[in-house]
Amino acid sequence: MKLSEKQFQDYLLQIRALAEGPFDEMQKEIEVTNKFPAEFYDLAIKNDLYRFSLPEKYGGWGMSELEILKVQEEFSRGPGGMRMHLHYAADMNWRILDDYGSDELKAEYMDKFQDKTIFTCFALTEETGGTGADLHTTAVRDGDDYILNGEKWLISHTDCCEFAYVFAVTNPDSDKDDRLSGFFVPVDTPGYEVVPMPHMMGCRGAGHTGLKFTNMRLNKKYLLGKEGQGLEIALHSLSVSRAHIAVSNLGMAQRMLEISIKRAQDRVTFGKPIISRQAIKMKIAEMSTWIHALRTMVYDFGKDYDNDPHGEYIEEKAAMCKLFSIETVKMVSDEMLEIFGGVGYFEDNPYGPVERLYRDCRAMFLEEGAPTVQRITIARNTVKHGGTLKYLD
Ligand SMILES: Cc1cc2nc3c(=O)[nH]c(=O)nc-3n(C[C@H](O)[C@H](O)[C@H](O)COP(=O)(O)OP(=O)(O)OC[C@H]3O[C@@H](n4cnc5c(N)ncnc54)[C@H](O)[C@@H]3O)c2cc1C
Repeated sequence: MKLSEKQFQDYLLQIRALAEGPFDEMQKEIEVTNKFPAEFYDLAIKNDLYRFSLPEKYGGWGMSELEILKVQEEFSRGPGGMRMHLHYAADMNWRILDDYGSDELKAEYMDKFQDKTIFTCFALTEETGGTGADLHTTAVRDGDDYILNGEKWLISHTDCCEFAYVFAVTNPDSDKDDRLSGFFVPVDTPGYEVVPMPHMMGCRGAGHTGLKFTNMRLNKKYLLGKEGQGLEIALHSLSVSRAHIAVSNLGMAQRMLEISIKRAQDRVTFGKPIISRQAIKMKIAEMSTWIHALRTMVYDFGKDYDNDPHGEYIEEKAAMCKLFSIETVKMVSDEMLEIFGGVGYFEDNPYGPVERLYRDCRAMFLEEGAPTVQRITIARNTVKHGGTLKYLD
């Protein structure tokens, strides 16, 4: 089913109302329990939040990447943990299997994402090494199977998934990009274990734990792509998802700006609303300008991706979007707190969840690669391209 322009605009409004209404309300309890209630998943299904980003052949709405990013901008105005879950649902959750799964796996599972009959987690990061080629989880070939041993940590969505995308070393003798392979692991495979982790600063409810694999036997049909293609799969999947992190920061920053303006209009000191003071106007101008620049970058990425998902500038522009979005939300959240003054540090603010937004946005500094990694990616590509970038008309 394809949406008309009017239906699409109505859907954006529907998702904004959901994020700032029932989702915000529900989050008050989740801040304490750190677990999404069944009602959250039901509402997400009812509002097509697992479906909208899927291609039509899998029951989705066949949206362009740009349209998907715009929907994500809206739900990112709500609680950070839900944003994290829905951000993942809209992208890596199904896209990795679609891009790299065998025809057999795709025929069996691709139409099961639309209503969360299946959900996945993405297990790359390890406690004992650096993200990327420095992984230590191993997958050793044994006849038609692989035997996996190792650990992962900081993994999101482990409490609500049926499968895990797991990255492991299949070629330990190689020091090149072909050391790793990716697997689509059913979480009921014997030897798969969830290891609890402490609560996070923000984004509560998104189910973060470690994972442990002990002699986990997996048929070779669960291999993603070819053996040795794991790093490429992880990097390509993450590069697209980084633009989704950027648009999450955009949605959050936009809400921060809007509530900051409302507060500054209402708050009167020394006989005048603080919005009339030049010091506050300068802050609003900075916030607004950075948000506009970020939106322009993210929409440019969306157009590039729609033109060619594996295009020359996809990785570079996605990393730029993410890096700039972190700087934007960092500055905007700091200015929001200053504009609110002391009351911004308290819960239950009538203008919006100021202190929660401040905590929630900080996860995105780290999620899917710290700023250092974005800079390394950008520099590598910028040098390769001789310092030039191309834009679509
Ligand atoms: C909320 C949240 C959710 C997450 N969800 C997932 C998930 O679902 N799946 C998953 O696989 N991971 C997940 N992660 C992990 C996340 O991807 C990593 O935290 C992030 O990539 C940074 O890796 P690290 O924590 O191992 O930091 P480290 O590697 O310990 O890095 C610490 C600092 O050192 C810098 N650094 C490290 N190595 C180098 C180097 N060689 N050169 C220069 N600087 C370097 C880093 O940039 C960083 O600033 C999540 C993290 C968070 C906070």
